[in-house]
Formats: sequence, structure tokens, C-alpha cells
Amino acid sequence: MHYVSTRGGIDPVGFSDAVMMGLATDGGLLLPETLPSVDQHTVSSWSNLPYQYLAVEILSLFIDDLSRTELEDLVERSYARFRHHQVTPVSRCGGVYILELFHGPTFAFKDVALQLLGNIFELLLKKRSASMNILGATSGDTGSAAIHGVRGKAGINIFILHPDGRISPIQKLQMTTVTDPNVFNIAVRGTFDDGQAIVKAIFNDLEFKEKYHLGAVNSINWARVMAQIVYYVYAWSKLHAHGFDSVDFSVPTGNFGDIFAGYMARRLLPPGAINRLVLATNANDLLCRFVNQGIYSRGTVQATSSPSMDIQVASNFERYLYYLRDENGAAVKADMQQFDNTGRLDLSALRQRVREDFVSVSVSEAEVMETIRTFHRDGDYLLDPHTAVGVRAGLTFRHEKRPMICLATAHPAKFGAAVHEATGLDPELPPAMAELADRESRCEVLDADPEVIKAYIAAHALES
Ligand SMILES: *Cc1c(COP(=O)(O)O)cnc(C)c1O
Repeated sequence: MHYVSTRGGIDPVGFSDAVMMGLATDGGLLLPETLPSVDQHTVSSWSNLPYQYLAVEILSLFIDDLSRTELEDLVERSYARFRHHQVTPVSRCGGVYILELFHGPTFAFKDVALQLLGNIFELLLKKRSASMNILGATSGDTGSAAIHGVRGKAGINIFILHPDGRISPIQKLQMTTVTDPNVFNIAVRGTFDDGQAIVKAIFNDLEFKEKYHLGAVNSINWARVMAQIVYYVYAWSKLHAHGFDSVDFSVPTGNFGDIFAGYMARRLLPPGAINRLVLATNANDLLCRFVNQGIYSRGTVQATSSPSMDIQVASNFERYLYYLRDENGAAVKADMQQFDNTGRLDLSALRQRVREDFVSVSVSEAEVMETIRTFHRDGDYLLDPHTAVGVRAGLTFRHEKRPMICLATAHPAKFGAAVHEATGLDPELPPAMAELADRESRCEVLDADPEVIKAYIAAHALES
């Protein structure tokens, strides 16, 4: 399996190189050169596989430069710390199915991909006798999942910037109580945007980037998408075992990452297995406008109760665009240039095709609150606000004959304030979350100045 860039400007590379590259060197995103698909017979044989076994089957379709033993070992270690033996169990409530993706170390779905990515990085670096310093800025969720993905790993140091005093206490503790010697938490005296701008400036200093082997863990790494394909197939196979041939998924979306994995799963499985993908957005409706009108245009970010989806540029959108443009890299490159220049892309001529893949609705704050309240009152099930966005959208498009599987992307206790507002109830903190307050913590507070951050990295980076 080789990987190409959405902008058509690189020679195909193997899986390992694609993972180490992150962003393609021509500025595009990496995708498999040809998409694997599996027949009915094969998927039927996957029906009762435990999550880890299924993951190995699916990953091996996309990876041909790691051995089966290496894959089995990676998968085994990546999901050993999940609190549910099924890793991503499916439950049923309020007329929909709920695919629970929050049983990992940081109680949000990003663990599914980042636990695996951390282990893949460690293995590849070891094989190459190399090291890497990961640098990222976070508004909360991604940073903690990344830290938990690489803590204690050989050959990797990680530096994560968060805005000092501007993330929730739980989110802060999930990062700062990781005191492994390879983890460096930096609280920046500034906003999330300041942190992001600093990271961007440091990555643009190519000499510094080379010298310290800087790497990223943002959602554009192909390995993250790949890891997420697994739970779509897992959920589908659970319902298939109950006699359903076709299902729908509803996905709360910000960066287009999670739902793009659903699109890949839909193309992997036999036609019709995944009927529709519901793209659910909060008030930040950039992607909803794209699906319904064919116009992809930047707006201004609005703060909502589902902050991990408060996004106005969807970093994985370009991957879908590549298929919409019939795998024409030059066309994608022109589109992205136009978007960079004008903040707007008119794809309305392709609207029909988009609507064969997705349906979409934007969910208001009032609807989020009402959905959390209803599921608690009628089903005794607590939804976090991100999950509630997906559930609400799923109910809008539910077909009576087909299961609607809604992705639950965070544990309700992680966003307890919103749950409290909706239900008057404070979700019980799981022990792993409750005990954080008593742990030792480590964090450096630094000025929002790229030179200050660089000096700190230089003093603590791994060199090779
Ligand atoms: C990141 C995140 C999302 C959005 O996922 P994308 O891949 O960016 O679409 C949804 N819910 C939670 C809890 C998240 O952390």
C-alpha cells in the first residue's frame, strides 16, 4: 500500500513514511493510492471478532511495511488501557444506538487514535534509530489525548502548550498530572490562538524544526483516520450480527476527521452496508452549509457547550475534496489555493454527489440542552454535549427500518457543567478522573513569545 498527496505533488510513499511525514511535503494530506474494499464473505467472517482482532484485520489492509506480529503487538498495547473490554461498546437508548468511544485514558474519542499513533511512532523511531520532539497547542482535548498517547515512550519528548487559566480544571489535570520525564506541559500567558500562532511560527523556522526533529500529532496524520475506521466497522458488525444489513451513522463533527473515517469505512464495506452518514455540527455550521448548499466558506468561531467542535476550518476536509474531484491533485491544489486567498469555495455544482455521501444539520444550544435532558429523563443515560449534537442530528434523520448509530465522543463527566445546566445533575466522576486532584502535577508557565518557547524546547529536547 502506497500513499499519495491530495495535491498530487509527491512520489508515492509507504505507510511508515506517510506516518512520519504527517503533512505531505507539497502541503497536501496523505491518502492511500488505491482504496481497499472487502467483500460480503470477508465481512461476515469478521462478525464476532473482538475489537483488537478486527483492528488488526483492518489495519493490515492499509499497512504493508509492518509485520503481522508487529501490528498485533501495537494494537494489543494500544487498547490495553481502555476501561471497557469491548474497547468501543454499542449501547441502545432513546430509539438510537450509541457507540461509546470514551473509555480510553482521557475519556474522549481521540484516545482511540492517539494511543495507537503513540505506539506506531515509538516503533518506527526505534527501527530508524531516530528520535522526535512533538510540539502542539491545545484548547483541551487533543493535547491530553496526545500526552497520554506518548507518555513514557522511548525516543519521543512531547511539548504541549495550553492557554494558562483558560481550560477546564479536569482538562488541565489530565495533562499536568502526567509527570513522565518525556512530557512537558507549558501554560502560555495568553489565549489558545496565541499558543497556536507560536506553534505555527516555530514549525515555520525550518532550521529549528530540522535541528530538533519536530513532529506534530494533529488530526491530519493518516494513522489517526485509519485507527478510527475500525470502530465504524466494529459497530456495523455488531448490528449485522443482529440481522441488520444496513445502518446509518451520526457523527458530531468539527475537523471532518472522525466523519472522514466513516466515509472511508463506507467505501471499505460492501455497498449499502453504511447507508448514510449524518454530519452533525453545533452552531459552527461551516460543514453543514457545505453539505446543504455546496459552499465551503469560513465564518467566525462561536463558543458553544461543545468546544471541541468550535472550529471554522476543517483540517481534514481536503481529503474528502480529493475524492469529490475524482482524485485530481491539481484541481484540489487550485481549490485550496482559492480557499486560502478568499476564504470561500463554491462547490455547488458537485452538491448532488456530496448529498449521496452525507446529510447534515446544525444543532442549536437549546436543542443540545433539550436532548441531554430528554435522554436523562427517559433513558437514564447521560450524554455529553458533543454526543448530544450527534444524537439530535441522528434523530432528525432516523429511518424506522435502519439502526441509527450515534458516536459518543466524550464522557459526560468531562463536560459536567453543560450536563449540570441541562439536568441539574453533576455527573459522577469516574475514579480515574476523581483521583487526579490528589496527584502530583508538573507545568511550566511561560510568556506567549516564540523565542521564550523555543529556548525552553531547546533546553529539554531529545537530540539525535
Ligand atoms: C475532537 C472532538 C470532536 C470532533 O472530532 P473531529 O474529528 O474534529 O470532527 C467531537 N467531540 C469531541 C469530544 C472531540 O474531542
